[in-house]
Amino acid sequence: AQMREERIEKTKTVCTYCGVGCAFDVWTKDRQILKIEPQAEAPANGISTCVKGKFGWDFVNSDERLTKPLIREGDEFREAEWEEAFDLIEKKFKAIKKDKGSDSLAFISSSKCTNEESYLMQKLARGVIGTNNIDNCSRYCQSPATMGLWRTVGYGGDSGGIGDIEQSELIISIGSNTVESHPVLATRVKRAQKLNGQKVIVADIRKHELAERADLFVKPAPGSDLVWLSAVTKYMVDQGWHDEEFLEKHVNNVVEFMESLAPYTLDYAVEETNLSKDEIISIATSIKEAKTTSVLWAMGVTQHGGGSDTSTAISNLLLVTGNYMKPGAGAYPLRGHNNVQGASDFGSMPDRFPGYEFVTDDNVREKYEKSWGVNLPSEPGLNNHEMVEAIHEGQLNAVYLKGEDMGIVDANINHVQAAFEKLDFFVVQDVFFSKTCQYADVVLPASPSLEKDGTFTNTERRFQRLYQVLEPLGESLPDWRIIMEVANRLGADWSYEHPSEIMDEAALLAPLFAGVSYDLLEGYDSLQWPVAKDGTDTPLLFKEEFPLPDGKAILYPVQWTKPLEFEEEYDIHVNNGRLLEHFHEGNLTYKSKAISGKTPSVFLEISKELAEERGIEDGTKVRLTSPYGNVKVSCIVTDRVFGKQVYLPMNTSGEGAINYLTSSHADKDTDTPAYKEILAKMEVLEPK
Ligand code: SF4
Repeated sequence: AQMREERIEKTKTVCTYCGVGCAFDVWTKDRQILKIEPQAEAPANGISTCVKGKFGWDFVNSDERLTKPLIREGDEFREAEWEEAFDLIEKKFKAIKKDKGSDSLAFISSSKCTNEESYLMQKLARGVIGTNNIDNCSRYCQSPATMGLWRTVGYGGDSGGIGDIEQSELIISIGSNTVESHPVLATRVKRAQKLNGQKVIVADIRKHELAERADLFVKPAPGSDLVWLSAVTKYMVDQGWHDEEFLEKHVNNVVEFMESLAPYTLDYAVEETNLSKDEIISIATSIKEAKTTSVLWAMGVTQHGGGSDTSTAISNLLLVTGNYMKPGAGAYPLRGHNNVQGASDFGSMPDRFPGYEFVTDDNVREKYEKSWGVNLPSEPGLNNHEMVEAIHEGQLNAVYLKGEDMGIVDANINHVQAAFEKLDFFVVQDVFFSKTCQYADVVLPASPSLEKDGTFTNTERRFQRLYQVLEPLGESLPDWRIIMEVANRLGADWSYEHPSEIMDEAALLAPLFAGVSYDLLEGYDSLQWPVAKDGTDTPLLFKEEFPLPDGKAILYPVQWTKPLEFEEEYDIHVNNGRLLEHFHEGNLTYKSKAISGKTPSVFLEISKELAEERGIEDGTKVRLTSPYGNVKVSCIVTDRVFGKQVYLPMNTSGEGAINYLTSSHADKDTDTPAYKEILAKMEVLEPK
């Protein structure tokens, strides 16, 4: 027994799934994962985890893992040595850059990768290739939330930590399926509701678990959140319930903003949102009565044509009621992937360097040029959405994409897949052979989080270290090593031996992370940005001032963009989101037997009314068709959805994949696809 005990290793890691950022010890014997053991000192989760963090790890030993580079030959792929794969990439990238210029190449980072890997990917794009064509998948989810916060309060991050959400007197959750999407965070809300009398208001079109538990659940018409939020704001101002002192001291543009609220009367809001006057007044009264209000929101808000404006309206409401700059209050866009916050933080964006400094700022560019010893492009590059169009137009010829199954997660995937087919050269780096790999010329085998060192930043802006638990499987390599080799083949001279050196470089360059170092992140220690040079971090994002001119926030007037209206025949509204057990298209979770055994596939939730009207029962198979494509899926009749609104989990890449239905319509300010604006028609295929 002694011998066996000795061979067991316990290594700290951070969860690879959602943005809550749970940390725990992984018990291993050789490559076998014996147990996940959360520790009380873990800052985001303490001793909790959800089913994915607890059981979703056996994918690392799946025999479907990519263990060698693959090179396309006609319609097939053959295994290759690294040397040959790198030679080919070098030859192709050099030739395309020479013939068509730096901006004919583009780079896509991954929210599953570490901060250090995001940093290197943008350094490769900007410093080695000479293009700002770099983006990451926050373009598909939270860019509008970030935009709403930049406009109003200057930083695009959560106002406080999960502890603040827990101590808030009032939580308003909008368009967030929190219990399934951020399970451990939801547990803390449930606890606060029970023990501290925290009040919870949920606005959603689907009656999910948090909605069931809410003190007030309201069901706005799809895409109408901006209207009721503005009506609540106006009503509170009209009643004199706004925080005059806070506005006076900390906020600019008050008069112009107040004037912009004129259209948002109660009558107008009732007409456009389906909320009653009583419900709107009840929300306003709850905010007035609570000392602290926090608003949580997610894709139900952001993935609309007006996602940035609705996010702005949330921040406006918080400003008007003085719900910033105090513990337990503020704005909490709930980040989806484990490191979607960090992917943007570390510069995988077409217009920003790490720490959100602009590529158009001469002084900032000069700082990077000196440090990297290169000339840098000054024009912002293409975002993911623009990249697809640029490929179709023949402007973009090569893409290097890591850890992003863009061929299934982007909207209107028939259109995206057609773009991939037009590329001259496409490099895809992933842990598994994803749908996107089918379009690649070279596939590079990467290592998942358990096989590397680095840091992730969770939804609370919290840096946490992950330690290597296992050796990379087969010939797979950590992404940072692969990117470094590609960069060196293209003329760079990088010699990082450990991700800590990459973080040291980023900290020197980006003031937001000035004091971040691996020493301060030992074990379960963590830091929330901004981190000053002396290592002081910032759990509460805004204390005395906002990072905007004169230290003041800005009330930013917004107009409502009505959701897309399709023609008559498309009479079904297709909402979408997550299931607890799976993560996104299931690239990892379906490879985990422990998880896929519990929930082997997705199903379409339909209302009792619709079931009755169309003669549908549990298990009936239907086809949904939008103007862009169709899906086939089995139904389940529930009381969570209403009328002609149906709910299709996004957790599949098969014939039920939601993005066969989505369009190229996007948020007007950030190009985030309007995934939540789908109208379709429904045919019953196999009545029971
Ligand atoms: Fe992982 Fe999120 Fe579950 Fe925590 S709540 S264990 S971070 S998936």
